[in-house]
Amino acid sequence: MGYQSNRELNGKRLGKRLDMTWIEGRFEENVITTTMEDAMNWGQQSSIWPMTFGLACCAIEMMATGASKYDIDRFGAGAFRATPRQADLMIVAGTVTYKMASRVRRLYEQMADPKYVIAMGACTVGGGPYFKYGYHVVKGVDLVVPVDVYVPGCPPRPEALLEGLMRIQDKIKARKITKGEQKLPIPHHSGYSALNV
Ligand code: SF4
Repeated sequence: MGYQSNRELNGKRLGKRLDMTWIEGRFEENVITTTMEDAMNWGQQSSIWPMTFGLACCAIEMMATGASKYDIDRFGAGAFRATPRQADLMIVAGTVTYKMASRVRRLYEQMADPKYVIAMGACTVGGGPYFKYGYHVVKGVDLVVPVDVYVPGCPPRPEALLEGLMRIQDKIKARKITKGEQKLPIPHHSGYSALNV
């Protein structure tokens, strides 16, 4: 049976069949052909390392996501790192106070590139229950660090955080290492993301 690489399948879905026929089907079974870009993206999306980092009650849901019932390890993202230098995903889980904001920024800057941020919970997304009277709360962590995926809820359930993680995987899958500036993918509930071209 002829093997079809991810790139070719993606090309078909986009209605743009890529010409890789010169190499497809020329080798024995069990030999996989793909591009360096796809292989690197596949490796990174399957081994996201989040930072061990929680600010308030949403962090309890994040911990539940890492426990056995929801098992974030299924996505290769269970290795929570205790230092930003070994992490490439920041899950901002909880209320960001003005006092904490500069620490969040510093931790973000110490993370390895390429890095991603999930804003988890209503407090982090836009101030949440503290929006009106919480003089001490930042009204959205995107005022402090660039956010890739927003997960609303107070608190969001572990399934919602896993959905956010899959959207981060979509972004990594659609990353174009060789073509300069990265285009933002359009997330889709099927888990597949197409480039906005
Ligand atoms: S969004 Fe709700 S659960 Fe999450 S930190 Fe704020 S108050 Fe707590």
